[in-house]
Amino acid sequence: MDTGFIDHGRIYDYLKNTTPPDAKELDEILAHAKELKGISFAEAERLLMVEDDAHLDKIAETARFIKEEIYGKRLVLFAPLYVSNLCNNDCLYCAFKKSNKSIPRRTLTFDELRREVQTLVQQGHKRILLVSGEGLGMNALDYTVKAIETIYSVKMGKGEIRRINVNIAALPVEGFKRLKAARIGTYQLFQETYHAETYKTMHPSGPKSNYLYHLTAMDRAMEAGIDDVGVGILFGLEDYRFEIMALLQHIRHLEERFGTGVHTISIPRLEPATGSDVSVNPPHAVSDRDFRKIISILRITVPYTGMILSTREDAKMRHEALSLGISQISAGSRTNPGGYSESDSAEQFSLGDHRSLEEVIRDIATMGYIPSFCTGCYRLGRTGQDFMDLAKPGLIKHYCLPNAITSFKEYLVNYATPETRKVGDALIQKMLNDVPEAALRAKTAASLKKIEEGAVDVYV
Ligand code: SAM
Ligand code: SF4
Repeated sequence: MDTGFIDHGRIYDYLKNTTPPDAKELDEILAHAKELKGISFAEAERLLMVEDDAHLDKIAETARFIKEEIYGKRLVLFAPLYVSNLCNNDCLYCAFKKSNKSIPRRTLTFDELRREVQTLVQQGHKRILLVSGEGLGMNALDYTVKAIETIYSVKMGKGEIRRINVNIAALPVEGFKRLKAARIGTYQLFQETYHAETYKTMHPSGPKSNYLYHLTAMDRAMEAGIDDVGVGILFGLEDYRFEIMALLQHIRHLEERFGTGVHTISIPRLEPATGSDVSVNPPHAVSDRDFRKIISILRITVPYTGMILSTREDAKMRHEALSLGISQISAGSRTNPGGYSESDSAEQFSLGDHRSLEEVIRDIATMGYIPSFCTGCYRLGRTGQDFMDLAKPGLIKHYCLPNAITSFKEYLVNYATPETRKVGDALIQKMLNDVPEAALRAKTAASLKKIEEGAVDVYV
């Protein structure tokens, strides 16, 4: 089978014949990582071979250092918005697969969609990930573009959605051009597994069964001018070491072709889904220990690439993952169309975290993390390579921290309960001290005052 730019043979050989690095080599790689410029993919592969507990602890410690230096305590929040669970594919792990007759199917009407968005906006959300099955037929793209317009059009008092990322089936270049024109943020598509044989087994029928077409989706998206693309692996389908090595090959391919790698990496682990045996008994289940290793190695290797943890992890793992490298999480999520404004079942998979946005925010703030609803970069055109140029430690602190603080303040003033507001305001006071330069600190403090007086959408 043609596996494109994923060199399976090289990965097999490496995994079979390579021994772990000794303490000296490990220390050298980690010292390199601490320079905050990322490490080479060859070095990342060496880290993947580490199994010794003490050595894994050292890797985790380095990841924590990098996360703290580059991102500080900033954490981006978003809500997935499922618009349709109709699907023509039969992905063995997913409840939306065509052959699963046990869930009710629906595609939201635009009125229903509006109600969903109103509910999210009323909760204080500003960022949405639009998610859909692949069953919308010939008019799928028309529907999606109209859905995006509908979402952006909802205004509730001072609230609105300011960034829509999209996770829908692979498209031809022309289709991606329409998504770009509709002003999407990031286009996300998960390869699920880079292992071609496993891919074939997991996707027995439907358009998604074409490995190469799926693999090259980001090439077409970037050809169409979409700067920010988000990749992902569904952990549990294959050996995680194979997946990470292949993911690095994917990133390198995009860097060589387009000059930028990927904007985000999503790292879901398989969760039990109705009607799916594979999801209940993953062929290569990833333990918590290995999951920590995966997050740490990715954070060390591509320090400026966002890393997204979805709803699916429980609160305990989310806490740990945040300190190791996760920069974005979903909060208060529902994975069924209509799930925000209606009480219903038919979820895509069981969620590990059932807390509301407000509860997640209070918890995050109590841990000292500052929830960010900022969408400034995207709206100022700081995307793709521009974003990467900006994403140097000092600059992230320069822009992102003040914007996180002001966007969080906007949430507190307009949506939070008094109890959350108290926790949040205390955190903001503390965080202000971390803003570099007195002038910027003063500007941020002035913005906070404006927001208290009613201003919204204040960013640098
Ligand atoms: N239909 C599009 C696709 O498959 O790319 C986008 C929507 S699909 C619902 C989004 C993602 O859900 C998939 O890429 C897959 O990684 C994830 N997913 C499906 N079943 C899952 C499960 N049982 N546990 C965790 N994630 C799952
Ligand atoms: Fe359909 Fe996507 Fe689920 Fe596959 S993962 S069955 S394509 S919704």
